[in-house]
Amino acid sequence: MKIYNTLTNKKEEFIPIETNKVRMYVCGPTVYNYFHIGNARPLIFFDVVKNFFEYIGNKVTFVRNITDIDDKLINRSIEEKIPVSQIAEKYTKAFFDDCNALEINPADHHPKATEYINDMIKLIKELVEKKFAYEVNGDVYFSVSKFTGYGKLSGKKLEDLQAGARVEANKQKKHPADFTLWKRAKQGEPKWASPWGKGRPGWHTECVVMSRKLLGGTFDIHGGGIDLIFPHHENEIAQAEASKNQKLANYWMHNGYLNIEGEKMSKSLNNFFTARDILKKYDAEAIRFFFLSKHYRNPIDFNENIIKESSQAVKNFYNCLKSVDYLSFKDEKLNDPDNERKANRDLFLQFMNNDFNTAQVIALLFEIASVVKNNDEPLYRKKIYSHLLVEFGNVLGFFQDLDNKLSNDLSDISGELIELIINIRNLLKKEKNWEIADAIRKDLKEIGIILKDTPKGTNWSINN
Ligand SMILES: [Zn+2]
Repeated sequence: MKIYNTLTNKKEEFIPIETNKVRMYVCGPTVYNYFHIGNARPLIFFDVVKNFFEYIGNKVTFVRNITDIDDKLINRSIEEKIPVSQIAEKYTKAFFDDCNALEINPADHHPKATEYINDMIKLIKELVEKKFAYEVNGDVYFSVSKFTGYGKLSGKKLEDLQAGARVEANKQKKHPADFTLWKRAKQGEPKWASPWGKGRPGWHTECVVMSRKLLGGTFDIHGGGIDLIFPHHENEIAQAEASKNQKLANYWMHNGYLNIEGEKMSKSLNNFFTARDILKKYDAEAIRFFFLSKHYRNPIDFNENIIKESSQAVKNFYNCLKSVDYLSFKDEKLNDPDNERKANRDLFLQFMNNDFNTAQVIALLFEIASVVKNNDEPLYRKKIYSHLLVEFGNVLGFFQDLDNKLSNDLSDISGELIELIINIRNLLKKEKNWEIADAIRKDLKEIGIILKDTPKGTNWSINN
């Protein structure tokens, strides 16, 4: 299988360190706010990466950290007038609630930065001893010019970083790109004792320590959004290699940006949506479909139409499975005289093995669904293709609650049908055709659907 590695800027054959085992680390949230819809992209995508590695027979160890100490949390605590620890607790819970609502499976480990402070201090000490870091007035910085490999991930050059440095740059630093490993605590800020006085670790140090601690010296995949390449991941590499002279991760994977109707999402443009906001209108699978319908490295544009189409596409998959009464044969062993299962699995593997091309897999799902829906197809073929739809869909994280959704009598489509009947009845009433309007109401009542005419319109309910 091939993975695009940001470190080498090319697709490379993926070879895990240990056969049939994949160890991966994806940068998790800084818990100072509800996460926005752009943050949902790496959550959903790496969820699929994990599923796929398992599907092809690997044991996966997946770590997604929680950054629960950072300047952003401190600022938020001042804004909300509650202690930093409570900010962390509140938004960590919100993070897990929202992930759950998005049907994102938990990672194997969710280390919190504050639980690894001693290990962080140890790493910083090591870097100071090896002269890769220096202390000024209780702050400790990493000296980028001491580390020859600096820029290897992002392609940035030290001279350019120097030239691009802003005038008001921190005078304590030897080079403007030097980054903070340890930050001295100001009055009232959370703090831990260290050889350099009381303070807290820098964000870039947190991830190096937690990933290594839980996954070992060098692990397979380090992932995150494209915005993390510089400086975050560049700085992680610098610390890891300076301290241990050993790669942090072999493959660096980054997902592309999300735009909102062609614009960058920002609070000032008033186009900032939290995942929570979007989940009020659309369900998790529509959001998942939206993200996976584009290759993860491409930018993706969010707008109402696309998400509506995504929602419709997911509904179609469900309707398709309903139309063949999938649950009645879901565990059946099926004969496959033309070996179509293998042919389709080969295609599925080919797409996924090519740097996780979920967009092509989704196109394949449409083709598979069209066989299931086609009434000219023999039943055995419809059944085989239904199984495939669910098998591949599951790897992409769809159909997680399939039994429930299919056995639920009142599907979305029947809701839409009732609305449609109500609209027709309203037209009849407008034409004063009371007789047929009444007959519709009576007939619906007989099958347990109750219509109630109110001054504001007609409501309906199911009489169980
Ligand atoms: Zn990180």
